[in-house]
Amino acid sequence: MHTLEIQHLSKTYPNGVQALEEVTLSIPQGIFGLLGPNGAGKSTLMRTIATLQPVDSGTIRFDGIDLLKQPKYIRKRLGYLPQEFGVYPNISAEKLLDHLAMLKGINSQKERREQVDGLLCQTHLYPHRNRAVSTFSGGMRQRFGIAQALLGKPELIIADEPTAGLDPEERNRFHNLLSEIGERVIVILSTHIVEDIQNLCSDMAILKKGQVLKQGNPTALVDQLQGQVWQKTVTKQELEYYHQKKTVISHRLNSGDTLLRIKAGRSPGEGFEPVEPDLEDLYFYTLQLTETATRQSS
Ligand code: ADP
Ligand code: MG
Repeated sequence: MHTLEIQHLSKTYPNGVQALEEVTLSIPQGIFGLLGPNGAGKSTLMRTIATLQPVDSGTIRFDGIDLLKQPKYIRKRLGYLPQEFGVYPNISAEKLLDHLAMLKGINSQKERREQVDGLLCQTHLYPHRNRAVSTFSGGMRQRFGIAQALLGKPELIIADEPTAGLDPEERNRFHNLLSEIGERVIVILSTHIVEDIQNLCSDMAILKKGQVLKQGNPTALVDQLQGQVWQKTVTKQELEYYHQKKTVISHRLNSGDTLLRIKAGRSPGEGFEPVEPDLEDLYFYTLQLTETATRQSS
């Protein structure tokens, strides 16, 4: 079983932004979801694990080996899908994958051929293998990114917002692909979309402003809110009232109506119904907790 242990990781960029603050995470084998709003520090954390960027302090151990001291060890075992790719050279997808496979140290031509063909099929790019990646659509590029990340049968896969730009069908396909490989390796997936985590991840963390606010099994975390989420369809005036008086988790539009969800130990008022909490409730509530704390302390 692989393990990834991150301890007390801190990073402040030269411009003074503290992107990571004492991040400590214990990541088991399987698919791990890193959930957080823009600016939370997800990409910084992922680039750090991929050993592409130094930190100020802290350690990362993969199977007990200190990655920051032995970057070569992880580079051989890593598949990294960055949030943004640079420019693609003007060669076919197949040739580019073959080239990247060579860089990953797959020296046997036969082995490269097998992996490249296999991944082109898995990502449904085989019919387009002779086209240059620069001519691909956004979704196809993303699939190509996934294919290159899987070259060399990595033991640790880092995917930074991999579903951004995918349509629902492509996202679903990607989820299936991940769950096929995810059992044998560690996959860390960052996202700001709750849906990506719900069905896929056995473990997750919520990151905000460089800090880990929660870590655990998604179902167990959601269970913490059991019996405490109440829902009501409200008017605009009511919405303002409840925002001032109660702990609002979220308000969502539903066929033109505003559905308000509140966290409370007992019914917050007339017309509220108890509802089953979901991961979105947990996420919004957790993000808000820190807002309230900041408000109270300032
Ligand atoms: P996320 O991926 O969760 O959106 P990032 O890791 O990209 O978060 O960014 C975390 C914080 O660090 C943000 O405030 C961002 O503006 C800042 N940041 C990211 N990269 C750099 C950089 N190279 N130089 C300075 N600040 C950066
Ligand atoms: Mg990012």
